[in-house]
Amino acid sequence: MNVLIIGGGVIGLAAARKLRLAGAGRITVLEKGRAGREASWAAAGMLAPDAETETVDAMYRLCRRSNELYSDFAERLADETGIDIELDRTGTICAAFSETEAKHLNNRLASQLAAGIRTESLSSADVARLEPRLSRDVSAAVLFPDNGQVENRKLVSALLEFARRNSVEVLEDSPADELLIRNGRAVGVSVKGESLEADAVVVAAGAWASKLLVKADVRCPQVTPVKGQIIAYEHFSAMRHVVYGAGGYLVPRRDCRLLVGATVEDAGFNTDVTADGVLSLRRSAERLLPELAGREPDDKWAGLRPYAGGGQPVIGAVPGVSGLFVATGHFRNGILLAPVTADLITEAVLNDSVPEIGRPFLPASGMEAAAS
Ligand SMILES: Cc1cc2nc3c(=O)[nH]c(=O)nc-3n(C[C@H](O)[C@H](O)[C@H](O)COP(=O)(O)OP(=O)(O)OC[C@H]3O[C@@H](n4cnc5c(N)ncnc54)[C@H](O)[C@@H]3O)c2cc1C
Repeated sequence: MNVLIIGGGVIGLAAARKLRLAGAGRITVLEKGRAGREASWAAAGMLAPDAETETVDAMYRLCRRSNELYSDFAERLADETGIDIELDRTGTICAAFSETEAKHLNNRLASQLAAGIRTESLSSADVARLEPRLSRDVSAAVLFPDNGQVENRKLVSALLEFARRNSVEVLEDSPADELLIRNGRAVGVSVKGESLEADAVVVAAGAWASKLLVKADVRCPQVTPVKGQIIAYEHFSAMRHVVYGAGGYLVPRRDCRLLVGATVEDAGFNTDVTADGVLSLRRSAERLLPELAGREPDDKWAGLRPYAGGGQPVIGAVPGVSGLFVATGHFRNGILLAPVTADLITEAVLNDSVPEIGRPFLPASGMEAAAS
């Protein structure tokens, strides 16, 4: 089985790795620019299934499964490539600054505990002990001990190194212009006027996925870009946990960078960093960490999250076109969901099968949801 994957972000590259490990034949990843340099590079790398949920639903189960897969995924990638993706399980803190926020956190805590999610209530004294530099205005908080982060740029590097060592061809500066569909079957893509053929085509083109699918008249949930800006401070080694609060989040990295994210904007395919975006992120950062007041961030960037209906990913075989698969729409959770998505795509492409956990994310489910 020869496979063409369109899109060299974490989703396309993780799928390529898993397909190789599962015995696929020739695997080619087409990337319109530089592999891994779009959303997968821009992300904050948080693995936050628990911190970001209110209910135990299909999306939560998918996120939790992927979070569970991460320890093995990180360990194997290190063995396969020599690259440590810096998986960190120190835990994630959600902080409240007002009574209303504290009440909201506590209500959520009650339903999360009832649903079996591991979480602990923290007093302001606990917060001061765990993260002494956080603002003394934090009145209450909760800790999610199973949540954490990876260094997503190292994840991209590791997946590319795996590809290099395992005969996965990654063609950069190679935009797929069109899907080639003959008699209801995907047979390849055209790239710069040339046809590349394969037995299976996987569209993992992130926020750009619909451009190809719509052009080919393929029925699939619409994917749109949602811009996110991040700022970073260097030489900041004084924190250990990922912290949510004050309308943003802080992600302390092993190399002493502190990431502050992220805006959520409808700006089409524009990835400019804006003064307003930076200002709002600085405000969140300074509220959480008063010592940052007046300090200019050392770096800033933006990326495009792929959003499909309801913020849920679309993964699996496209109905009505055999040999065509999609893996996109991962929105705020694509780094977290890379391992489970790779498993689901591999099952779909090589075994024509859909594990139970992936059923709600099939392209057909998305279309039904969009229509209802
Ligand atoms: C600011 C920000 C913060 C985030 N934080 C987190 C986080 O903390 N945790 C988390 O889990 N997720 C996070 N995300 C979300 C996560 O980054 C995405 O869900 C994930 O990277 C999507 O991966 P992808 O491979 O689908 O997309 P991308 O990384 O965008 O990759 C898609 C690739 O396809 C290529 N492509 C597109 N069209 C074509 C074509 N026609 N031919 C060839 N190549 C093509 C693009 O150039 C691109 O490289 C964040 C995102 C942003 C923007």
